[in-house]
Amino acid sequence: MKIELTSSQQAAQAEFRAFADTEIFPFAHRFDQEECLPTELICKLAEHKYLATILPAEVGGRDFDMITFGLLNEEIGRACSSTRSLLTVHGMVSYTILRWGTSQQREYWLPRLAAGDTLTAFALTEPNVGSDAKHLETSAERQGEVYVLNGHKKWISFGQIAGLFLIFAQIEGQPAAFLVEGNTPGLIVEPMRGLLGTRASMLAEIHLEKCPVPKGNLLASPGLGFAAVALSALDLGRYSVAWGSVGIGQACLEASLHYSRQRQQFGVPLQSFQLIQEMITNMVTQVKAARLLCYQAGYSHDSHQSNATTETLMAKYFASNMASRVASDAVQIHGGNGCGPDYPVSRYFRDAKVMEIIEGSNQMQQVMIAQNAYQECKNLARALS
Ligand SMILES: Cc1cc2nc3c(=O)[nH]c(=O)nc-3n(C[C@H](O)[C@H](O)[C@H](O)COP(=O)(O)OP(=O)(O)OC[C@H]3O[C@@H](n4cnc5c(N)ncnc54)[C@H](O)[C@@H]3O)c2cc1C
Repeated sequence: MKIELTSSQQAAQAEFRAFADTEIFPFAHRFDQEECLPTELICKLAEHKYLATILPAEVGGRDFDMITFGLLNEEIGRACSSTRSLLTVHGMVSYTILRWGTSQQREYWLPRLAAGDTLTAFALTEPNVGSDAKHLETSAERQGEVYVLNGHKKWISFGQIAGLFLIFAQIEGQPAAFLVEGNTPGLIVEPMRGLLGTRASMLAEIHLEKCPVPKGNLLASPGLGFAAVALSALDLGRYSVAWGSVGIGQACLEASLHYSRQRQQFGVPLQSFQLIQEMITNMVTQVKAARLLCYQAGYSHDSHQSNATTETLMAKYFASNMASRVASDAVQIHGGNGCGPDYPVSRYFRDAKVMEIIEGSNQMQQVMIAQNAYQECKNLARALS
């Protein structure tokens, strides 16, 4: 089996790499320190339509296949995980509207989201509700022409600057999804600071206090809110994070190769020590293995295979674990310098840990992968009997 990018995928990859190397990588440390992405960068992402990669051309999108979308996430993730995180959440909300929105919602929002005129945030998690996401405490009550939302969301990436939130809430015990504009009365944004990683992803807590949302902003029927809307959005989010984790791994590898050639101890470069070579060997192999799982997940999505979601779970689980291990080795190879601000590996180390938690923690990925494996086993036994 030959795994080869098409010529247009190769051209796109070169474009993404050049953009990441010139517009993001040199400034990523500053973004991390200042805990925000500058408006100029967001404008440049919008100009290149990197905020509209999976949207169709008729609404202003680039209509990428999933492999090309993955390549973008790897390259941006290699330079700055916070910037990749913007692509992830904006992609999740855009895709959700494209797939589940009414025709009015699609016509109104998709061109605005594709142009980057409005940025979005995905608001599922709450202070008391994380992995057990079906049991939300945020409620929505129908009162005439509006639903009134009450509740509290936490850990919402780009909540500080989003003009549109995809908010999950219960209607009479059934999870539902709403499009809520950032300026809706009763929606209060409280910035979160001092995070371990992806520090520039401008997280916020969102307080919903008698927040009136027009009934036309309900995205899918109650009951479909979690099973359909949240899970399909999370599938895309996991795919993006899986590739972003490969980007972190690749960045760690490149930094470690460079450092171990330059740095001398005992009169020779670090690269001549076999224990350093062992770490480099593991890095190269692990990064490559994770990338192959991502290709497999992308291929399964592009060819509409029924196992695409499971392939994505495995890619996210493996790639985020890989990024954490590889980042830890990258810090080790840099020694004391790996713990200071002069080299990027300490940021990679912090960002990599976050990859194991977001879009469903890796324990939840394990649970779902195992459940799917048992189901496949049952199906096989049934087919053979
Ligand atoms: C930087 C960052 C950005 C984020 N961005 C967003 C965002 O944009 N939108 C959003 O909605 N959320 C966001 N989140 C929240 C994230 O999705 C949750 O943190 C994640 O789903 C885990 O939920 P929790 O933190 O409540 O952990 P908990 O659910 O409390 O879990 C705590 C620990 O217990 C484990 N655990 C829980 N249940 C089980 C089980 N059944 N079996 C085994 N182990 C289990 C978990 O794996 C974890 O290790 C973000 C989080 C971070 C850190």
